[in-house]
Amino acid sequence: MPDEFRSQLERVADWVDGYYKDARRYPVLSRYKPGELIGQLPARAPEQAEPFAAIFADFERLIVPGITHWNHPRFFAYFSISAAPVAILAEMLASTLDVNAMLWRTSPAATELEDVVTKWLAKLMQLPEHLHGIIYDTASISGFTALAAARERAEPSIRAQGMAGRSDLSPLRVYITEQTHSHIEKGAIALGIGRQNVIKIPCDDGFAMRPDALEAQIRDDLAKGLRPMCVCATVGTTSTTSSDPLAAIAAITRKHNVWLHVDAAYAGPATILPEVRPLLDGVEHADSLVMNPHKWLFVPIDLSVLYVREPEILRRAFSLVADYLQTPETDVHNYMDYGLQLGRRFRALKLWFVLRYYGAEAIRKKLRSHIALAQELASWIRSEPGWEIAAPHPLSVVCFRYSDDGGTPEEIDARNQRIADDVNASGEVFISTTRLHGRLVLRVAIGNERTTREDVELAWRLLREYAKAKVGAR
Ligand SMILES: *Cc1c(COP(=O)(O)O)cnc(C)c1O
Repeated sequence: MPDEFRSQLERVADWVDGYYKDARRYPVLSRYKPGELIGQLPARAPEQAEPFAAIFADFERLIVPGITHWNHPRFFAYFSISAAPVAILAEMLASTLDVNAMLWRTSPAATELEDVVTKWLAKLMQLPEHLHGIIYDTASISGFTALAAARERAEPSIRAQGMAGRSDLSPLRVYITEQTHSHIEKGAIALGIGRQNVIKIPCDDGFAMRPDALEAQIRDDLAKGLRPMCVCATVGTTSTTSSDPLAAIAAITRKHNVWLHVDAAYAGPATILPEVRPLLDGVEHADSLVMNPHKWLFVPIDLSVLYVREPEILRRAFSLVADYLQTPETDVHNYMDYGLQLGRRFRALKLWFVLRYYGAEAIRKKLRSHIALAQELASWIRSEPGWEIAAPHPLSVVCFRYSDDGGTPEEIDARNQRIADDVNASGEVFISTTRLHGRLVLRVAIGNERTTREDVELAWRLLREYAKAKVGAR
């Protein structure tokens, strides 16, 4: 039996190695039609054991064609990510150990390594020392957890009494912008804050929150007897990578004693670059901040770090220790007490492997190269007749559109959508679109550690070719 496992391991190792050597041979965007995999698999689980070779053959034949290759160097959609090969090894070890890091004693090393790597990251990002890091699966859950902490601080009675039917409780308010990631609204919905109490503060021309408008809204709400609970400021928004002015916003949240949550899910990793770090100026007054190593730090999905000023508030919000989970240790973190989840994966291991195997210097170099490639792409777009840049592009994302031949705004939108669809159907690249001021724009995000200048050039060449083809066909 052990020999069989060993040969299976080797088979998988070969496949993984081959994938990393040549992921470009796959179409980036899967060509599967809806239902295509389901139609090819039996409706019931097998009663009898199947040989590994058969399972693996089906993995290659049926599963891989249904994969959209996030690890492909020409994946430019949404946020381009990549899994460092060394992190794959860490994931294998974490699964081998099958650690559940719910309590300190259920694997002291998992909990303590989490404390160590989140501190390492905090130092790289020059975060204030009072921020304590905890690992969750995604920024969405980190953000939800931060909102729950904000609610606990604003109105601790809700934990016991809930919110329904209470005349002593006025609505709690959350402030975002139209550029804020949707998970904040989702979190407010889940916490019973109510969507109508999530207020979108107007942005300036650069898609950043206007502090004067925030201040006015909070004053207005206070005058109406409403309870300002949390402001979510974003450093690196999802559409354009714009950043809200943290220091100015922090001055307002401090004055009114409102929780300041900073969403740096995407841009957080880049703040380890001295030239990007100014985006976090003012973070010393934040109550919480999220950054995603699974987005731009070469750690495979999933790993998000939530930093909080007072982890004790999180514990007050969530801790509910069943009799069978009581433990004798004091002065340790039992991370099941700091969120919804009981069971927790040993996620810190892969981050530790990546930070050590690359070292901060090489990571900075990779991040800089992504930003430089995005800036170069933007310069090509700017100097190409018929194309225009649609938003400032301070980091590794460029929003732009093809606007030659005029037409109504709707026609221009449709033309750009077709260009994106055609480019993506080629299988060579995958880009996405977003809407700015109601208009559709193309969006290229660079962030895969294996992306080269040639990859970006190819994307730009295809975009121009398909745009021309569209014009020719009219
Ligand atoms: C991607 C992103 C999120 C959501 O990240 P998940 O980890 O997928 O939940 C939240 N906020 C911002 C700014 C993002 O870019």
